[in-house]
Amino acid sequence: MLSHIQSLKEQELETKKQKQKNMRLARLLMVATLVGLSLFSLLTIISTIEPKDTAEAKGIVPKEIVPQKTVEKDSWELILVNSQHVLSMDFTVDLIKFGNTRVDCRISEPLRKMIDAAKDEGINISVCSGYRSVSEQNALYNAKCLFYVSQGYSEEASKILASQYIQKGGASEHHTGLAVDLLTDGAADLDESFAETPAYAWLKENAAKYGFIERYPKGKDQFTGILWEPWHYRYVGESNAEEIVSKNLCLEEYLQDIDGEP
Ligand SMILES: [Zn+2]
Repeated sequence: MLSHIQSLKEQELETKKQKQKNMRLARLLMVATLVGLSLFSLLTIISTIEPKDTAEAKGIVPKEIVPQKTVEKDSWELILVNSQHVLSMDFTVDLIKFGNTRVDCRISEPLRKMIDAAKDEGINISVCSGYRSVSEQNALYNAKCLFYVSQGYSEEASKILASQYIQKGGASEHHTGLAVDLLTDGAADLDESFAETPAYAWLKENAAKYGFIERYPKGKDQFTGILWEPWHYRYVGESNAEEIVSKNLCLEEYLQDIDGEP
């Protein structure tokens, strides 16, 4: 009997101890929660306080945000003409005489400046062809086809070969008056020998400053549809030209870049 009472007392003591332990734990949890909440509030308050030495605090009016350079894709300088982008028949251009040819009157001055700047460095560059009408272009294309036929190619094969260099009427950017074929000493014909001349090296370095780009660069024919033409230059405006050259793009790639398409 005595041992039973003792055992009950021990049990009671144990329960009491457990209760005290639980209460301590609960208190600890409450304190932790309170500390957590206080920290959170403190951090929230701190984050809303601006540092004292901002421009506003110093009384300086913030500068106007300068917008990123926007490229007007539809500007006249960036008109895209190729076999997929054929000019509409009502396309018109204001032409001005330039040597033995004519160009869009808006590029006459930069073209003159570029040629003069090269001349100042002892390099002769002349324009052998600028604007071409659709019928002139068709005549050129047909002549090129006949050339390949005379070389023994079939009519079909001749057309394919000719179109690698000469576009059909409507698909040549010479219709825009913004493109020129250039000649220089030692490159009397329009062929790859132009790339061996000092004029080509000079143009590679300087053409963009005047708004011109080598329109059909080497290795870009999968985009342009035209094999390398080191003699053919196209006016796109100075800032476009600088960007196209610095990024090593062709016009098709550049326009795709602006579109944001892959
Ligand atoms: Zn050309």
